[in-house]
Amino acid sequence: MAKKKIVSLEGAVKTDAGLSYKGIIMEPVVEKCEGCERVVAFEGDNYCPTYAQPEKKWAHGVCNFATHVRAEMDKAGKVKVNPLKASKRAARGR
Ligand code: SF4
Repeated sequence: MAKKKIVSLEGAVKTDAGLSYKGIIMEPVVEKCEGCERVVAFEGDNYCPTYAQPEKKWAHGVCNFATHVRAEMDKAGKVKVNPLKASKRAARGR
């Protein structure tokens, strides 16, 4: 497992469009991001420094940057989402 890295969104500014950070507008993470180690909290909301628009990322299937689930193809070529054990444990503790 990858080590948890602390990513800081220092200097980010909340705007009506989203969180403005280094010239990028970031939208809050979506429900499916919960448990992902890339989520960073900023002033009460959670953002993803890896992908500015998590909702769009998930709209196309599984986020390929996610640390908490892994997408696998089954024999029929369908994408299956497998939650990773560590994040299941974390989710229970909430
Ligand atoms: S890497 Fe993917 S799953 Fe993780 S917070 Fe970002 S958009 Fe969500």
